[in-house]
Amino acid sequence: MANNYFTLCSLFYIVTICIAFFIKERINSVETKIYKYIILTNLFTVIMAIICFITIKHYDLIPFINEICSKTLIVLMFTFHIFLTAYIYYISTKNINKNKNSYVLEIQFTLLVYMICIFLIYLLPLYYHNENNVIYSYGPSANVTYISTVVIFIFWIYCLVRDRKNFKNKKYWPFFVFMILSLICVIIQKMYPGILVLTALETFICVIMYFTIENPDLKLIKELNMAKDRAEKANSAKTDFLSNMSHEIRTPLNAIVGFSETLSRENVPEEIKDEVKDILMASDNLLEIVNGILDISKIEADKLEIINTPYNFNKMIDELISLTKSRIGDKPIEFVLKKDQSIPEYLYGDSGRVKQVILNLLTNAAKYTLEGKITFTISSVIKGDAIRLIFSVEDTGIGIKEDKIDKLFSKFERLGVEDEITIEGTGLGLAITKRLLDLMHGKIVVQSTYGEGSKFIAYIDQLIVKDITEIKNKEMNTIVDLNVNFGNKKILLVDDNELNIKVAKRLLKNYNLDIEDVMSGQECIDRINSGNKYDLIFLDDMMPKMSGKEVIKILKNNSDFKTPVIVLTANALTGMKEEYINLGFDGYLSKPIDRKEMLKVLKKYLG
Ligand code: ADP
Repeated sequence: MANNYFTLCSLFYIVTICIAFFIKERINSVETKIYKYIILTNLFTVIMAIICFITIKHYDLIPFINEICSKTLIVLMFTFHIFLTAYIYYISTKNINKNKNSYVLEIQFTLLVYMICIFLIYLLPLYYHNENNVIYSYGPSANVTYISTVVIFIFWIYCLVRDRKNFKNKKYWPFFVFMILSLICVIIQKMYPGILVLTALETFICVIMYFTIENPDLKLIKELNMAKDRAEKANSAKTDFLSNMSHEIRTPLNAIVGFSETLSRENVPEEIKDEVKDILMASDNLLEIVNGILDISKIEADKLEIINTPYNFNKMIDELISLTKSRIGDKPIEFVLKKDQSIPEYLYGDSGRVKQVILNLLTNAAKYTLEGKITFTISSVIKGDAIRLIFSVEDTGIGIKEDKIDKLFSKFERLGVEDEITIEGTGLGLAITKRLLDLMHGKIVVQSTYGEGSKFIAYIDQLIVKDITEIKNKEMNTIVDLNVNFGNKKILLVDDNELNIKVAKRLLKNYNLDIEDVMSGQECIDRINSGNKYDLIFLDDMMPKMSGKEVIKILKNNSDFKTPVIVLTANALTGMKEEYINLGFDGYLSKPIDRKEMLKVLKKYLG
């Protein structure tokens, strides 16, 4: 057995690899299938090598069987090389778009060459050496494998050169090792034919392949990562789509809200005024839905942020109450407010988000209550500079079934849809509320009895503003008096959308302003360069050819240009305002344009 140690070790390794490979779940890829044939062929080769060792030893007794076994061993070794070639060929052509027909042709050609080689192996003579326990076979039949191996090597190099872009890819490592070791082994084998290292080398490659590129675990992880990447890409495409959609919806909404708003102030019959109010209410609902979709996409992209500033708490509560009352409308519902009077007027936090959270609870109470009472309680606990606000919204509405409460904060989840056919909603509100509360380190709890009513309690921590003179002054400056005469000050409107210009003009109508408009950034720049002077410019951001951002860059490069520029945008992402101000804009108005916000801007810049 002197020269059979390598073969015996190989048997141990290949059996282990086969067990490890076959007991685990494998992915169904072409190269994994080829690898399966590679290890099986190697297993048979090793077994056959051991059998040959015995038959050559007893050559005199069983010459015919020895001949068959020895030549079959050569055929198996040759088959191993063919499968390995198929493997390399497949991974090197993966990135090339090949058509199926050329694959079929190549397979047919390979099969033909394979059959010819097998025929030659069985036909040509093979000689045997058996001296001092050194046993091996040699001769023309064995040389067929040597020659074909050289050809295969050349073919591998061709595959590697063709796929040189992916040359460093881990999948090629085992083959580099195999090529280098094969050369060494062929030289050793030729010099010392008694050392049977070729079969062992093949097993060694199977082992390397298993631990580098063909381990079922590694492959599954790779597949999972690829699936994860695909899902992330799809998700980000969805997020982009949603924010684009929200932008697209805002633009026509701007026209609807703008015209209705001005119409509601004009001398029109009462019944038209009522209808206009309904349009405004419906637009508000639509805007709420669009904002909800935008918020959800931001939550998924992890872009939702909390921006803290000082704010007037009492004013926010007043706005919440008037919004809830308009939501209750004519329904026979009594609205009760219980407010802790010790809450300071000025707090520090994200007033927009706090308002959004509480408004959602109040709107839901108004939506899901047909009659009875809604009690809105605000209490607080003060500790040093911090205040914990505790909001409770209790209603006598339809209530929530006990088994549904767990699903309440999942997005798109509308509970008991069958009972709510006439109540509009998207199922996004509470999911956003929960996420916002998480971001503000707040909490929400629900108590509800189906058929009797629900109670939502949320708490949010805020800071107390000590020095209020600055924000008081700011507030004084922004008190909105809707009848202002700006004494023919000159305004330039820049927007590519004619309807938007019309809306803005309508909103600016009663303030005695001299309004000019242009429909592109270039025209705006031309007007400024040709010496036109304006007191204020309203500049749309999203315009074809030249965006508002590009226009402001050019305008600000001119040191003589001092006119304040307000950006108009349907891009209502949080943090956008800061971004625009950093770019050089003096102010920011989001579409649909709020008349009061617009007036604040006019008062600030036109005095
Ligand atoms: P939406 O109101 O748009 O459907 P929400 O996320 O705000 O979405 O609410 C999710 C679901 O929770 C609602 O569809 C409704 O079934 C239930 N719900 C929320 N608030 C109340 C409430 N005050 N009374 C009864 N059911 C409610």
